[in-house]
Amino acid sequence: MGGPQLLTDVAPSDVAIVGCGPVGALLANLLGQAGLAVDIYDRERDIYPLPRAVHFDGEVMRIFQSAGLADRIAAATRPSPYGARYEEPSGRTLLVRRGSELPGPHGWSGSWYFHQPELERILREGLVRFPNVRVHLGHEVTSVDELDARYVVGCDGARSLVRRAIGSRQVDLGLHQPWLVVDVLADPESPRTQALPLHSLQFCDPARPMTLVNVNGRRRRWEIMLLPGDDPARMTEPEIFWPMIARWLGPEDAEIERSAVYTFHSVVQEGWRKGRLLLAGDACHQTPPFLGQGMCTGMRDASNLAWKLVSVVRDGAADSLLDTYESERLPHARAFIELAVRLGAVIQATDPTAVADRNRRFAAGGTSFDFPQPGLGGTTPPVGTIFPQPRLPDGRLMDDAIGQRFAIVGETELLKHLRPDAVLLPGVGREWLVEKKVRAALLRPDRYIQAVAP
Ligand SMILES: Cc1cc2nc3c(=O)[nH]c(=O)nc-3n(C[C@H](O)[C@H](O)[C@H](O)COP(=O)(O)OP(=O)(O)OC[C@H]3O[C@@H](n4cnc5c(N)ncnc54)[C@H](O)[C@@H]3O)c2cc1C
Repeated sequence: MGGPQLLTDVAPSDVAIVGCGPVGALLANLLGQAGLAVDIYDRERDIYPLPRAVHFDGEVMRIFQSAGLADRIAAATRPSPYGARYEEPSGRTLLVRRGSELPGPHGWSGSWYFHQPELERILREGLVRFPNVRVHLGHEVTSVDELDARYVVGCDGARSLVRRAIGSRQVDLGLHQPWLVVDVLADPESPRTQALPLHSLQFCDPARPMTLVNVNGRRRRWEIMLLPGDDPARMTEPEIFWPMIARWLGPEDAEIERSAVYTFHSVVQEGWRKGRLLLAGDACHQTPPFLGQGMCTGMRDASNLAWKLVSVVRDGAADSLLDTYESERLPHARAFIELAVRLGAVIQATDPTAVADRNRRFAAGGTSFDFPQPGLGGTTPPVGTIFPQPRLPDGRLMDDAIGQRFAIVGETELLKHLRPDAVLLPGVGREWLVEKKVRAALLRPDRYIQAVAP
């Protein structure tokens, strides 16, 4: 991959991306695949090493599929059928996020566990496929004016420079709380390792709320809420960490791989676009990780934005198409963050009145939920929802048959008479069409529904 270059030496690109974290790297793959000239910059040479994302969902795996990377990513990640449980220290279950053995509506398992640096490495290696994508690592962008590109996308994380240039307005969704995050490598031979839960555990102990995640291989993740009186500077010390998880493991069962204290935030930005400047990922929203959806939300931004940039830059669509990016994505992202904040209130409760109230609400047991599937902002379902991905009679997943194009699914008889500039899939998704009482649906390249024929 290329080192820093003098920008005066290079031809202007269609799109400059600031930040080669997961969102920027995915966007560069999607644009590179469509043939756009892309320059992507990251101030760091190496991938961020501290513990962050461990989970993505089935829709995100489907986006990796569209970038031609699903097989490599599936080989480096672990699908999980186990879901998540919110439990009191007594073992009583308050709340369940359902899991499933079967591929979900996206044609893939609904939950995948991974090591973020490994995922980012695969995304970066994917860029080598495209001579039209130039990667500039070790290059800090200090002003958007230095970027000679038709569009500039800030995938530059929570402290985004591009966001400052846009002047976005921050909306606070209420949750800001420091947590200790520790990844350990557990000894697979230890009986205590073998006794760890396979599902994600939200341990709702008012004395010390924690999350325990079965990541992949030997890796297990503990996230531990800081309480008043904790010294954040000392929390990563082994003498402090091990006693807190003594009921599960000790230093004789596992070694600490890495640890950090983060303050989890819940914010969205208003103003994802100003002229040629756009934002994606943590640059325009941040969520506490209780749903494992922060990066996922950014990946959906990249998928939404990529086909619109391709339509404008390559296919001559009106630039105003890019104005639909924020109006569609912001309410969608906000739905995930607001649910994460509500789940945060369940697990983070420490005040006795709040704990008693919580326990009363969930006393009956049996409360369960799935990841939300909201529609895009400004649409009325089924328009603006994502179309499922069935397998075709020839065994292929539907999206592989479509490629990066528009498609029409619908009744065979109806589609027989069409001669459109889109892929036709007669008879595909019949169950969905019947359920929604429509005869055909027009799918965008990101597989969200553009229109239906009643
Ligand atoms: C403890 C924890 C657990 C999490 N768990 C999950 C989870 O399970 N699932 C999930 O989906 N998400 C999770 N997340 C969130 C996820 O890690 C982030 O949402 C994701 O990393 C954001 O990706 P990004 O590409 O938008 O930004 P980042 O990953 O922050 O990348 C931004 C990049 O931009 C670069 N950059 C910044 N400024 C400049 C500049 N001026 N010039 C050049 N380069 C620049 C940075 O070096 C960086 O590489 C978790 C986060 C934390 C902290």
